[in-house]
Amino acid sequence: MSSNPPRANLPELAPAVQHEVARLAASPEVRSAYNWFRTQEPQLLHWQMEMARIPAPPFGEAARAAWLAERFREVGLDDVRIDDVGNVFGTHPGFGRRYVALSAHIDTVFPANTPLNIRQQGSRIYGPGVSDNGAGVVAMLAIAHLLRSVRIRHALPFVFIGNVGEEGEGDLRGMRHIFSTPRWKDSIAYSLVLDGAGADTIVAEGLGSRRFEVIVRGPGGHSWSDFGVPNPIVILAKAIDTFAATTVPTVPKTTFNIGVIRGGTSMNSIPESASMKVDIRSTSMTEMERLEQSLRLALARAVEDETLAAEMRSLAQKRPAGVSGEVVVIGNRPAGELSSGAKILQVVRSVDAQLSNAAQVQRASTDANIPLSLGLEAIAIGGGGSGGGAHTLQEWFDSNGRELALKRILLTMLTLAGVGE
Ligand SMILES: [Zn+2]
Repeated sequence: MSSNPPRANLPELAPAVQHEVARLAASPEVRSAYNWFRTQEPQLLHWQMEMARIPAPPFGEAARAAWLAERFREVGLDDVRIDDVGNVFGTHPGFGRRYVALSAHIDTVFPANTPLNIRQQGSRIYGPGVSDNGAGVVAMLAIAHLLRSVRIRHALPFVFIGNVGEEGEGDLRGMRHIFSTPRWKDSIAYSLVLDGAGADTIVAEGLGSRRFEVIVRGPGGHSWSDFGVPNPIVILAKAIDTFAATTVPTVPKTTFNIGVIRGGTSMNSIPESASMKVDIRSTSMTEMERLEQSLRLALARAVEDETLAAEMRSLAQKRPAGVSGEVVVIGNRPAGELSSGAKILQVVRSVDAQLSNAAQVQRASTDANIPLSLGLEAIAIGGGGSGGGAHTLQEWFDSNGRELALKRILLTMLTLAGVGE
């Protein structure tokens, strides 16, 4: 998850929703849930460390998925299963056909051979993935375990999902698959995504991104004897110069970055290829498409200019001047945003008011992008406690204060599900 500053102009909280949250929070069932959470912390830290010790690199989450399916069965969820791409599901019954989904990604950014030295010091644990997304998965397990241990009435059923493919090249493939399956696309009314630690943010806007590798190829040659053949590094440089002059709006915020550039073999060789990686981000699909168009045009123009120039030169030298440019899409996360009147945002903000929890509404790139891009109600929040060093070997998580997030998640789910009889 990567995030941006909060947005303004949030609507007033609806008194009816606030009233419902307050009523739930004062109910004996929710009170006993709070007490139950208090006794569970040793179990939660145990699960968190056990899970972090199972490697889950992008496209290699199977062992961790199997572990989670076992935990889902152990806590007593129904219909526990793993789908075609490796997402893990379990349900808890209710009344009504549509679900409230609670999900957490199970993949990490760490390659398969990363040493997973997971260790504990008091309330603090250390090691790759303990917080992102150990915190999210364990909070989800805590809620599932609670609902099967303490009787709490609610209407809509719940589906718990440990999904694959959130990080990097995973490109949200787990969520994409779920929301392209009619069974889930048409039956998940609300998606609550748990990503990382904390309880102080609400991601209500899906920051979209498109990532490209741009490759220019030419015949190559000797710097002296083949002088005049098109040079891919020169073409790429011209394309960058043109593309970088593209103007982008500040609202909706739109950015681009050329983050990696490669090419050539030696100082005295005309390179056979040169490439770059480009990252485009926006909360607006239209702006991302416009920038992509601008990138493709800049490349086409640079290739064409250099081809023409080489043809002019080759009239004298009689050399072929084959040169080509290619744009490969290596990442595509759709943008999307919650309407400011969305129920899920009203509910979580009312829950925060009830719990005196100060949280900021943000835009970020998370699993919530997928339902948001389909116009469905979704937010991403933290699994509680505190954490740091995400995506590094120095990652840590501290369970102090985890209860606040568990209460927040529970109240949000119950309010969204409505009252059961
Ligand atoms: Zn994450």
